[in-house]
Amino acid sequence: MKRIAILGSTGSIGGQALDICRRHPDRYRVVALTARGSREKLFDQVREFRPEMAGLTEGIDPAEIPEDLRFCTFMSGREALKAAAAEVAADQVLVSIVGIAGLESVLNALAAGRQVLLANKEALVTGGHLVTELAAKMGKPLLPVDSEHSAIFQCLQQAANNRAERILLTASGGPFRTWDRERIEKATPAEALKHPNWNMGAKITIDSASMFNKGLEIMEARWLFDMPEEKIEVVVHPESIVHSGVVFRDGAVLAQLGVPDMRVPIGYAMAYPERIETGVAAPDLFSLGKLTFEKPDEEKFPALRLARAALRAGGAACTVFNGANEAAVAAFLREEIPFGGIARLVEGAMERLDGMRADGLEDILEADRQARKYVMEMK
Ligand code: MG
Repeated sequence: MKRIAILGSTGSIGGQALDICRRHPDRYRVVALTARGSREKLFDQVREFRPEMAGLTEGIDPAEIPEDLRFCTFMSGREALKAAAAEVAADQVLVSIVGIAGLESVLNALAAGRQVLLANKEALVTGGHLVTELAAKMGKPLLPVDSEHSAIFQCLQQAANNRAERILLTASGGPFRTWDRERIEKATPAEALKHPNWNMGAKITIDSASMFNKGLEIMEARWLFDMPEEKIEVVVHPESIVHSGVVFRDGAVLAQLGVPDMRVPIGYAMAYPERIETGVAAPDLFSLGKLTFEKPDEEKFPALRLARAALRAGGAACTVFNGANEAAVAAFLREEIPFGGIARLVEGAMERLDGMRADGLEDILEADRQARKYVMEMK
């Protein structure tokens, strides 16, 4: 029986992880759940899974806690994340919150000796050096939940002691893959929120349309697999069946295939190294017929070029890339800037804040604040 804490349980990944817990009550005991502000949904989850602790980061008044849920300790704010990550006794901590708060949670969970199932991109993007160093020191390698990184991780299980030469990071290309530059510039939030294959939260769906998501994933892969950015190749694959692969020196490519359903990578991380039933069927290759691959267009999607520049620059450049993008996406969703403005603001922030350091958590949080401030002033 594994004791699991889920940070971000009312989000898309958290909900699917609970679905796997529901399928395997003999394997998983849910000990902690946290949400940002979805209290009714969190209450329902507490009622069903009966964790020891639950938290709302936006805060909760004890009077609001329903009578029948008083068996559970409710907490608020940053303290709730800290308790779920490191204080409640757990074997596994699934970090599926969105944003830079994930960095502190991952560091707290690792320091407490937890196995981290990583579904938060920001932790590696902004503090990859701190996270990987601590994971190595604690002897608790990170288990990636992002579908591409899970695919790479699965392929590397077959590598024995052979080092991969390159990584093939697949990308669906998003809803604007076939659009021209002028049309992308003026895309509306409704158009950007229509992802062709994956059903995900709003921020990551916009990031898929702009390909900032793939830029963030190059950064994640750099840290998870200790691979320089020039050896991480982005391959546009509109069907989203091949979830990524690795190239070996003998010319062999190993790739992982599956239908686009996050329960597969979530289940793999939860049960690793075992494979368990997830409710997902294998893809039907005969009905798919063929799979296609294209080179990404870095003119139409500047995010890839900016991500590589940020990785080469080092310091807090990736934190600036991430913080500026997050603030710009929020401004785009409020219809304050055009879609094309997202990349321009990120590039501007990277130029303005060039040279900021990322030696510790405080430096990183400061670079993140400066990047957001830049976007709020320049939008
Ligand atoms: Mg992904």
